[in-house]
Amino acid sequence: MPKDPSFKKVFQKIIAKKPKDLDKQFGEAHEEVFEQMDCLTCGNCCKTTSPMWNETDIQRVAHLFKMKVSAFLDTYLVQDSDGDWVYPAAPCPFLTAEDNTCQIYDHRPKACKEYPHTNRKNMMGIMQLTAKNVLICPAVGQIMEKLEQVYLSSK
Ligand code: SF4
Ligand code: SF4
Repeated sequence: MPKDPSFKKVFQKIIAKKPKDLDKQFGEAHEEVFEQMDCLTCGNCCKTTSPMWNETDIQRVAHLFKMKVSAFLDTYLVQDSDGDWVYPAAPCPFLTAEDNTCQIYDHRPKACKEYPHTNRKNMMGIMQLTAKNVLICPAVGQIMEKLEQVYLSSK
């Protein structure tokens, strides 16, 4: 039977069990997976989703481009229904399609630096986000395979 790419059973088990070592297991799996992962061969997060830009991100990149904040916002971002600043469409305008490099890498938003958010504290609090990201990010899929071995093989 093909593997379930949504890892539904693993997420259900984690949510039901609330394992005390969840942050540790995610953290270790994250390190192992990203030691091997070459994001430049993927770029799927930058191609398909938008990070949320916070005030500091906006000011930093507007300054980099020598633009007024208002002009930067008008040019690149829109507010979503929650009032967060995001791109109006994917892919990210700062992604170089040929090689998946980020044109503002050293100045990129905090949300980009932290993506896919699998080595955070309180992973239990972002299980829904992680369940969304597993369908976008192959690294999250590999991390969930490791967690499947930990939590679905144990009772
Ligand atoms: S700013 Fe850079 S890292 Fe962030 S989505 Fe765009 S290309 Fe990707
Ligand atoms: S989707 Fe995941 S594996 Fe792909 S570039 Fe983004 S972080 Fe890296």
